[in-house]
Amino acid sequence: MVENPLATHVTKLNNGVEMPRLGLGVWKTDNYHAKESVKMAIKNGYRMIDDAKQYGNETGVGEGLSEAIKENGLNRKDLFITSKLFNGDEGYESTLNAIEGTLDRLQLTYLDLYLIHWPVDGLYNDSWKAMEKLYHEGKIRAIGISNFDVPRMKNLLKHADVTPAVNQMEFNPLSQEKEILNFCNQTGIQMEAWSPLGGGEALKNETIAKIAQEHNKTVAQVILRWNFQRNIVTIPKSVHEKRIIENSNIFDFELSDKDIEIINSLDKDKHSITYDDFIWHNPDGDVDSVEKWSDSPINYQV
Ligand code: NDP
Repeated sequence: MVENPLATHVTKLNNGVEMPRLGLGVWKTDNYHAKESVKMAIKNGYRMIDDAKQYGNETGVGEGLSEAIKENGLNRKDLFITSKLFNGDEGYESTLNAIEGTLDRLQLTYLDLYLIHWPVDGLYNDSWKAMEKLYHEGKIRAIGISNFDVPRMKNLLKHADVTPAVNQMEFNPLSQEKEILNFCNQTGIQMEAWSPLGGGEALKNETIAKIAQEHNKTVAQVILRWNFQRNIVTIPKSVHEKRIIENSNIFDFELSDKDIEIINSLDKDKHSITYDDFIWHNPDGDVDSVEKWSDSPINYQV
């Protein structure tokens, strides 16, 4: 049988759970396209999907998962599914309730990974206590955080019984979060990159284009391989099958130390969303619209 590198390349989290090192992101994707891209990804070997209540497409992802499991002869345990606690649901009781809606929409009985999407100050330690309870009850195989800077991670660790397994941060050649990455490496928290392609922005970089040409690969593949060689889990998003396949073909070449050094030097500390903006735009728990999160029109056409 041919080996599927998207299933076999895994990282062992701090609680022993194995997490694939490359999966599919589904932000800025409506329910229909979320369902279709999940099906395309799983058909082409992907085993990890990254979703969030915030994206307003858990229903579409759930339909995609259910159909893909049947169509590809898979079992639920072959897949690694992540979702995230919505800002408007932070707090102890509301976190306990929020997971039920997420599981329902995803048509699942458990999640592989549940993340606090953004640290809402004053509430995230209470949310974490509820996440720990859900983890001990077996509703989540691993619990983690997203968009936590070092001071907030330190504060969480002071109150936590379970160390987060993952911190999902914006991470790409233009935004490398060195301080957060170092802290995660020291504390055994797996770093996961959101917007690994800089939302498409990093694909225009000429220095990476030169490296890509030398390896006969695309810029996207070089960036994702750079993540892989730096032990950072990554979840590129695309709604196009050709790109979904392209983004997964990163296991048949190797960047040199020099290539990695060059890409490391491109850091501009450039962020696409700031913590304050995100809190500001989410005061009321409204998750109905995906389009409103998009600052540019979404191109669903091939
Ligand atoms: P990415 O960095 O993955 O880039 C996605 C963009 O690049 C899309 O416009 C996509 O277009 C395009 N693209 C993808 N592959 C290629 C390719 N091979 N060639 C050319 N263009 C390509 O951005 P995201 O912001 O979506 O981040 C990835 C995932 O991270 C999200 O989907 C989400 O799951 C997660 N995330 C988490 C956040 C958090 O706060 N925890 C915040 C933001 C994202 P197209 O679809 O048209 O192909």
